Amino acid sequence: MANTFAFVESLSGALRRVGLEAVTAARRLADATGGGEVHALVMGAPGILATAEVIGAHGADVVEVVEHAGLALYSPEVVAATAAARIGDGSYRAAFFSASAQGKDLAPRVAAKLGASLGADVTAFEASGDAIVVRHPVNTGKVIATLSITGTPVLLSLRPGAVTAERAPRTARVATIAPAIDPAAARVVPKELLAGNTAKLDLGEAPVIVSGGRGLRAPENFKLVEDLAAAFGNAAVGATRAVTDDGWRPHTDQIGQTGRLVSPDLYIACGISGAIQHLAGMRTSKTIVAINKDREAPIFKIADYGVVGDVLQILPVLTEAVRKAKQSH
Ligand SMILES: Cc1cc2nc3c(=O)[nH]c(=O)nc-3n(C[C@H](O)[C@H](O)[C@H](O)COP(=O)(O)OP(=O)(O)OC[C@H]3O[C@@H](n4cnc5c(N)ncnc54)[C@H](O)[C@@H]3O)c2cc1C
Repeated sequence: MANTFAFVESLSGALRRVGLEAVTAARRLADATGGGEVHALVMGAPGILATAEVIGAHGADVVEVVEHAGLALYSPEVVAATAAARIGDGSYRAAFFSASAQGKDLAPRVAAKLGASLGADVTAFEASGDAIVVRHPVNTGKVIATLSITGTPVLLSLRPGAVTAERAPRTARVATIAPAIDPAAARVVPKELLAGNTAKLDLGEAPVIVSGGRGLRAPENFKLVEDLAAAFGNAAVGATRAVTDDGWRPHTDQIGQTGRLVSPDLYIACGISGAIQHLAGMRTSKTIVAINKDREAPIFKIADYGVVGDVLQILPVLTEAVRKAKQSH
């Protein structure tokens, strides 16, 4: 019986949410196709072994761990060679990666090494006979392509948030293995990771995103967006390009075609018109709430809930309501 593989991303010794999403996806595919094991690979500096239990708790039967001082930062050649060596033994039907910034670098490298098919930036998948059928947003998300992919293995990179990481406890067999090539021998050696504001929750990790546009009128009014995000506790702040170009917010906050692609459980668009370039980055969010004073604003076409009104008046009321709801739980 064919097995399913998951590459589990980590950063600074901690698992990334997208890593556990890949394990959950692999578990789902394995269960839907009548079995086979889920084998997960995690790589990092010494200490990363401690994450194996959590990976098992999300459905991996086997967790292979590569610990090496040269892997404190993502090393493209070493990680791709090791993942390809693991997947290339012919026992896997499918292999899951994330379509995160790292996964967009890694998955095509592995596919090229193996001569394997890659379904990139996938938002849904299912097995269908010999094929794996995937959905993949194209044309800035205006069109969803359905692709039927055959071959062994099929590689898939999952759009962050497309699958919610879930526990599916296993007592995983854990093995430490060596990297396929020595990190010291790599031609590209990562030297430094320049962190942004590390106190902030990453947009790709946050289950809730409160995002602001030019409708906030002035940069200081983003305080209202930050207050709402803080009331949720597990929310990140996003922005449109209009406001990042104007310097109201850092460019790292920008969501859209030329910014971050996100799929949180909840996306609250505050004073955002809903230009296609913005929608391209967030339209796969599971629930979308829009606040806009113009009832004809395009954002309402994709919103699940819409509030027509002045965002500067509505945000404080919403923040208070979220605070109260949180306190009563
Ligand atoms: C090549 C290219 C790439 C691009 N990439 C991106 C991208 O990645 N991300 C992105 O976001 N954009 C991108 N853009 C820009 C995009 O086309 C829009 O210009 C931008 O998204 C608009 O931002 P906005 O909604 O904040 O501003 P606006 O379009 O000005 O909309 C402001 C909205 O706020 C509402 N409003 C005003 N006052 C209030 C109030 N008091 N209360 C409530 N609502 C109010 C208005 O009704 C309006 O709908 C790109 C453009 C190009 C050409």
